[in-house]
Amino acid sequence: MKKIFLLGLLLSTAPFLLAQHIEGVINVKEVERIERILAADDMYGRKTFTPDIEKAADFIAGEFKTIGLQTWHNSGSFRQEFTLSSTELNKYGIRSMPGITQYALANVVAVLPGKSRQEEYVIFSGHYDHIGIGSPVNGDSIYNGANDDAAGTTAVIMLAKYFKELNSNERTIVFVAFTGEEVGGFGSQYFSRQLNADKVVAMFNIEMIGTESKWGKNAAYITGYDKTDMGDILGRDLKGSGFTFYPDPYPGQQLFYRSDNATLAKLGVPAHTISTSKMDNEPNYHQVTDHIETLDLDNMTMIIKAIALSSKSIVAGTATPTRVKAEK
Ligand SMILES: [Zn+2]
Repeated sequence: MKKIFLLGLLLSTAPFLLAQHIEGVINVKEVERIERILAADDMYGRKTFTPDIEKAADFIAGEFKTIGLQTWHNSGSFRQEFTLSSTELNKYGIRSMPGITQYALANVVAVLPGKSRQEEYVIFSGHYDHIGIGSPVNGDSIYNGANDDAAGTTAVIMLAKYFKELNSNERTIVFVAFTGEEVGGFGSQYFSRQLNADKVVAMFNIEMIGTESKWGKNAAYITGYDKTDMGDILGRDLKGSGFTFYPDPYPGQQLFYRSDNATLAKLGVPAHTISTSKMDNEPNYHQVTDHIETLDLDNMTMIIKAIALSSKSIVAGTATPTRVKAEK
């Protein structure tokens, strides 16, 4: 009886301690600092295959280094570099340049080894590329992609800070900023070939969390909710927190298949995208007006906290989501 009582006591005080902890690490000031750098005009829309995206990659790698994370398989670099041939590019409808046969890309990947279950990976990801520069609209030609997906990338960096500080993850956490999402998902495809998908117990992909959801603040949705029981696990961990994660309300848009989670999901990984984007009413989506000024940074900070809280049992190894039916 006593033992159970003590356990109950522990369980009831833990969320409070965690909540206090979260307050300090995941704060709006830091969210704004990172978001502002990624969405700045001098990143020129972070387009894949441009020097601009390299600048963004260096910034993210610098953040991972400052946090004190490890590199993938101790490669010594947070940049996971690879190349694509002109033939592969053409396959995706991207024109190659005459005489150039290989095109360089890089994901930015960092690792926080698990305390006990090092071979079980939990992934937090977002894509840091966007669509670059286009024809001017009202004198603005830079597609800043503040929401799409500087917001998700900011979340990944904030979660890295949080879990490093918490220093209690039983499973290994991998933080990934993907390249090439907007041009065909090249980054997640390459990443998925660098590890055994069977070892990935869950993937939290984060896309466009900078605006309020259709349910208002403190709410987000999970794409492909019914494909695994991961949404239920997240919901359990969020109980009493004031946050709610709903099933994707836009099933007609096939969002589950439209971001980097899909690549891992095809291999059987419980890989979902968490978003707040109102896909039927998001006027700045893929527009030059996707600026930081259009984001609700307070709510975005709260959503990042919610993602941190929701992943508690998965990160601790006390819950394991069912797997997606792998495609042949
Ligand atoms: Zn996106």
